[in-house]
Amino acid sequence: MSNIQAACACGAHAVSLPGAPPRVTICFCADCRLRAGAPFGIATYYPSDTLVLPELPVRRRVAESGRWLDERHCPACGSVL
Ligand SMILES: [Zn+2]
Ligand SMILES: [Zn+2]
Repeated sequence: MSNIQAACACGAHAVSLPGAPPRVTICFCADCRLRAGAPFGIATYYPSDTLVLPELPVRRRVAESGRWLDERHCPACGSVL
């Protein structure tokens, strides 16, 4: 499969993804609802060594379980890349 191009809502930042994601999740936790501004959040996950991510501010979210997730936000539009 060819690469998939993704971008934030304003188009200022983009990332090239190596084809279909190996994992897609739908989550109803409070953090995902806040991030998405919706009743649930959808996210795709790739091995970190397969991505070249844009230089953006990183927000680390830590769950009650202790597991963590780093999110990169576009400073202009707030989208998560
Ligand atoms: Zn943006
Ligand atoms: Zn969640």
